[in-house]
Amino acid sequence: MSECLFCKFVNHEIPTQVVYEDERAFAFRDINPQAPTHILVVPRQHIENLAAMHTEHESLMGHLLWVCAELARQEGIEAEGYRVVLNTNRAAGQSVYHLHFHLLGGRHMTWPPG
Ligand code: AMP
Ligand code: ZN
Repeated sequence: MSECLFCKFVNHEIPTQVVYEDERAFAFRDINPQAPTHILVVPRQHIENLAAMHTEHESLMGHLLWVCAELARQEGIEAEGYRVVLNTNRAAGQSVYHLHFHLLGGRHMTWPPG
């Protein structure tokens, strides 16, 4: 059995606020939202992060971005704008080692990120 929290969400072993799922992707609301919309979009397959991505994951990664775009449309944040963030390893602030896109929107954002 996987010890990974996000694998447990994907496999419905631990309940979470699911907003989307299909055969390759799973999306749920962040427990500590940093914006009015803060959704995490993850592959069902356990991949640690972008540094662990291989060429066979290319279409999966494209699919995950498509899910982000679809959810942004559904959340009504498309026109105003939104941000998709993928933290990789410690200096970037990665705390959960199951690859996840943060979909953030519903407020004005600044650049550069902290
Ligand atoms: P990162 O720091 O990029 O690895 O992002 C991990 C994200 O997972 C953070 O935004 C956390 O708030 C979120 N998170 C951690 N535990 C949970 C949980 N139990 N349910 C939903 N989101 C979580
Ligand atoms: Zn996992």
